[in-house]
Amino acid sequence: MLSRSPAQVARARIQVRDGIRSCDRCALHRSCTGPVPFHAPMAATVAVLGEAPGRAEDKVGRPFVGPAGQLLRRLMYDAGIDADSLAWINVVSCFPDRTPTAREIDACTPNRLAQLEVLAPSHLLVTGSVALSTVRPDLKITQVHGRLLSDIPGRWLFPVHHPSVALRNPPLVEVLAKDLAKWATIICSDRPWDHVALSCVTCGRLADRYDPDGLGWCGGHLARGMRGWEKADRARTRPARDELVPVVETVDVQGALL
Ligand code: URA
Repeated sequence: MLSRSPAQVARARIQVRDGIRSCDRCALHRSCTGPVPFHAPMAATVAVLGEAPGRAEDKVGRPFVGPAGQLLRRLMYDAGIDADSLAWINVVSCFPDRTPTAREIDACTPNRLAQLEVLAPSHLLVTGSVALSTVRPDLKITQVHGRLLSDIPGRWLFPVHHPSVALRNPPLVEVLAKDLAKWATIICSDRPWDHVALSCVTCGRLADRYDPDGLGWCGGHLARGMRGWEKADRARTRPARDELVPVVETVDVQGALL
């Protein structure tokens, strides 16, 4: 995004919000109380991408104020993240009372892209599989939660399990808490690329292991990649060397912030 004055940004934000409030691209706007646009302080550079408003969000008109939002905010507090300093966005702006359909997600794409463009976050917490499918449709949340990725230049993605899934599956609360603690370190870091997940040098899939040369290997190619290294080296999960050049995942550029 070209640099704009604070007044221009404020005007653009109002425009995006008004556009969402008057959106009638799908039928959901008829059954909900009203669309729920982003909620963000002007200075926010870090954002959370959710799935869709729930019942509480629909009533209040703000993202992530219901039980799932409260769990996420509590875990953020424990991780030292100030939830009130973040921007909060949903993939779908109207309460669907179920998982949004692919058509509803498609219909809401202009709203999502407009919000991401006007907020221009440098870090995006991607909560759950629906949110992940809009920024990295090639990846699965179960495989990449807790890993730093990228989708477009200048934006770091950090997928985590959706808090409502964690509410239904309590062991995931611990996983979510751990991932958020890692994200807290990353968003404060001057060198986020130190945390980037590497690709397997053979097939390009996410690497499970890094060899002592700093090369990434997936499970399928690990045995071959590790041949010749000492047994002790096989347990490494990150290269220890500082000067290692990061290899960001191959990206599908998805518009909006170009
Ligand atoms: N509340 C939201 O606003 N979004 C979600 O994804 C879940 C709860």
